[in-house]
Amino acid sequence: MKSVLVQDKKNCMNNSEKINLLDFTSEKLKAFFLERGDKPFRATQIIKWIHQHGVDKFSEMTNVSKTLRAELETIAEIRPLEIAIDDQSSDGTRKWLLRLPDGNCIETVFIPEDDRGTLCVSSQVGCALDCTFCSTARQGFNRNLTVAEIIGQLWLAKKLLQPNPESERVISNVVMMGMGEPLLNFDNVVDAMTLMLDDNAYGLSKRRVTLSTSGVVPALDRLREKVEVSLAISLHAPNNALRDQLVPVNKKYPIEQLIASCQRYMVGKAARERITIEYVMLNGINDSDQNAHELVNVLKDVPVKVNLIPFNPFPETRYQRSSNNRIHRFRDILVNAGLVVITRKTRGEDIDAACGQLAGKINDKSRRDIHFARIESSTE
Ligand code: SAH
Repeated sequence: MKSVLVQDKKNCMNNSEKINLLDFTSEKLKAFFLERGDKPFRATQIIKWIHQHGVDKFSEMTNVSKTLRAELETIAEIRPLEIAIDDQSSDGTRKWLLRLPDGNCIETVFIPEDDRGTLCVSSQVGCALDCTFCSTARQGFNRNLTVAEIIGQLWLAKKLLQPNPESERVISNVVMMGMGEPLLNFDNVVDAMTLMLDDNAYGLSKRRVTLSTSGVVPALDRLREKVEVSLAISLHAPNNALRDQLVPVNKKYPIEQLIASCQRYMVGKAARERITIEYVMLNGINDSDQNAHELVNVLKDVPVKVNLIPFNPFPETRYQRSSNNRIHRFRDILVNAGLVVITRKTRGEDIDAACGQLAGKINDKSRRDIHFARIESSTE
C-alpha cells in the first residue's frame, strides 16, 4: 500500500471569479458561444481539447484563433480539482482524496480489472440518506458537487492514469457509486453523465456508465428522459420492514414503488439490458434463506442481475460481513430461481476504498467555527 500526500495547503479557497469550462456540456458551451456572438463549432473544438486531450490551458488549443484564446483567457478557465492524497492499494486499486475550492474533500476510486478499468465517482459532499451500513452517511450532508467537480474527477483520473490521451483507454467504465446520492443532485449529475457519453468528450457507451441510487423514485422516473445510462439499485433488503431500517429513504419510496419505477425505466429497452440490484450481505440481518426467497419474489417481474456485496466494515459499525458460506448459500437460492448473480469482489480494503468506506473530509456542517467567530466579534 502506497500513500502520497500530494499537497498540504491550509487555505485552499479558490477565489477565482472566472467561469470554469469544466461546468459546461457541449450544448451549454454552444449556447455560451452563440450568446457571445461566436461560432458554435468553437464549443466542439474546446470540449475536445478539454476532455479528449486533457488540456487545461487555452494556449494549447492550437486550432482556436489567437484572438478568441486571449478573450477566453480573461473570462474563463479550466480549473481542475486538487489532489490532497493519492493512495494505492496492494491490489492496484487507487484512491484519491480531492480537495474542493471550499476546503471540503471528496473521494474517487479507480479499480483496475483484467477486462476493464472502473472509476467510482462521487456526486455529493457527504450524503443525506443515512443508510445505516454506510460510512459516508455518518458524516452527514454538506453540499452537492458542481458539474465541474463531478466530471473533474474523470478528467483528472484520466490524465493521471493515461498520460498519453491517444493511447488505449484505461478508464472503460464509470460508476456513480462514490459518496452521495446522485439522484439528489439531479441536474449536475445528468450534465456530467452527458459529458461521459458525449463522443467529443469521453465517448463512453451507455452500458459503461452506471448510476447507483437508493431509490429516489420521482427523480428516477425523470432520469430516462434526460440521459440514457445503466442503472444500479441499492436494494439491500427484500421487505419494507427491514429496508426501512437499512435504507431509510424506503419510508418515503417503499419497495413496490421502487420496483414499479424500475419497470418503467426498462420499458422499450433491449432484452439483454438489465438493472443491477445491489445487496450488501450483513451477517444475521438480511442474509437468511428466507430473505433470499423473498428477494426472488420481489424481483420476479424486472430484468435484473443481482450483485451481492460483502459488507465492508468501518470503525464503530454495528454490522458484520456475512460468512462466505452464507453468501454462497444465499447466491445458490437466487441462482436456482433463475436469477443472474455476481458476488462483488472486495477491492482496495487496505486503503479504505471499498464500497461504503469512502469518508472524504467535510467542513463542519453546523459551521460552528464561523458561528463562534461571529459571536466572539459581536461581543468584543
Ligand atoms: N447513494 C448511492 C451511491 C453510493 S453507495 C446508492 O445508494 O446507491 C454505492 C454502493 O455501495 C451502494 O449500493 C451502497 O449501498 C453500497 N455500500 C454502502 N456502504 C457499504 C458497505 N459498508 N459495504 C458494502 N457496500 C456498501
